[in-house]
Amino acid sequence: MKQLNRTQNEQNLVHSAIAQIRKQYQNAESEEVPQDLLENKYYKEYEPLDKLELLADQHIKYCTKRLLNIGYSILYLDVGQPWCIYWPLNALSILQEDVSKYEEKILQYLQQCKIGGFGGGPYQFEHLAPTYSSLLTLFILGSPASLGLIDRKGLENFFWSIQDPREKGSYLMHINGEADMRAVYIVVIMVSINICKYISPKLLDGCAEYIASCQTYEGGIGAVRYSEAHGGYAYCGYAALVCMGKAHYIDQEKLLNWLVSRQMENEGGFNGRTNKVVDSCYSFWQGAIFNLLMLSGYVNEQLMDVQELKTYIQMCQNPAGGIFDKPSKNPDTYHTCYGLSGYSLSDSNFQNPIYNVPNKCIDFVQKFFQ
Ligand SMILES: [Zn+2]
Repeated sequence: MKQLNRTQNEQNLVHSAIAQIRKQYQNAESEEVPQDLLENKYYKEYEPLDKLELLADQHIKYCTKRLLNIGYSILYLDVGQPWCIYWPLNALSILQEDVSKYEEKILQYLQQCKIGGFGGGPYQFEHLAPTYSSLLTLFILGSPASLGLIDRKGLENFFWSIQDPREKGSYLMHINGEADMRAVYIVVIMVSINICKYISPKLLDGCAEYIASCQTYEGGIGAVRYSEAHGGYAYCGYAALVCMGKAHYIDQEKLLNWLVSRQMENEGGFNGRTNKVVDSCYSFWQGAIFNLLMLSGYVNEQLMDVQELKTYIQMCQNPAGGIFDKPSKNPDTYHTCYGLSGYSLSDSNFQNPIYNVPNKCIDFVQKFFQ
């Protein structure tokens, strides 16, 4: 990604504007940040927006530091340690950094989290969320050694063990755990990439029907049946359907209507639910659905306002690197990963919208497991 040219003065102006707003709202609860914040402060006072740029070099420094010092992130996310690797690694990969230099250290670490699926850290139980982030990490590293770490039979056993006993086509996040659309998505996309060597197609029986039953009256998809339409779950449900070639199981016109209403006029970014504030991570969770709609063939062009979205993501950049969910917040690797993922997907084919790793990695994984 190329950076735009601008003078040092212009750069300072934008950065001091961001710093001022962050300072002003640093004590505010996230839901209390005024909706018109960006409109009033940025759009009217802090021009020129067209001079904003992606701070790629700073994000590379920010993510490299956190990837090399995983222990710091783990202090706050002990049960999601593989996420602390995937987020900065995926961000670096999107910025086209060579990530192979981290491979040895990461493989050593994930080996300690492996059971059949992966636990949230060494000596933890198998759980689908860290299994997903561990597998994506291994895909991004994209080498025979990284893919060789996957216990294909063990994963298959894990997937069979978390079928939801109450609902055909639904899965639990872990044995005796909660069931929601994340679990359906993870099982579907991992089974579909042939990781599970001996898998019976019966494992995915009823998934498409179950996902369709979770589409709400608004058009989005909820975590479970009868719950509110939400960007993250809508992404998971629709990505799973597209992956299975069953996108038509839901009302796609209704999904599209809901989706286009999630990009907010003033800020340019997406919210996750009706009447909620904009957050940069939905640049991916909502934004990628537009790519999936193209992938399924339902629409044939990008229907979001790409420039507005990019401007919002650029406004959510910390001058020293890292992306936050909205001005007033601190940057973190989660929002850096999903902000950059949405940025990349909005106008390029670099990332795979179903797996959120580079397309070239998915090609390699498919060949490796054939
Ligand atoms: Zn967020």
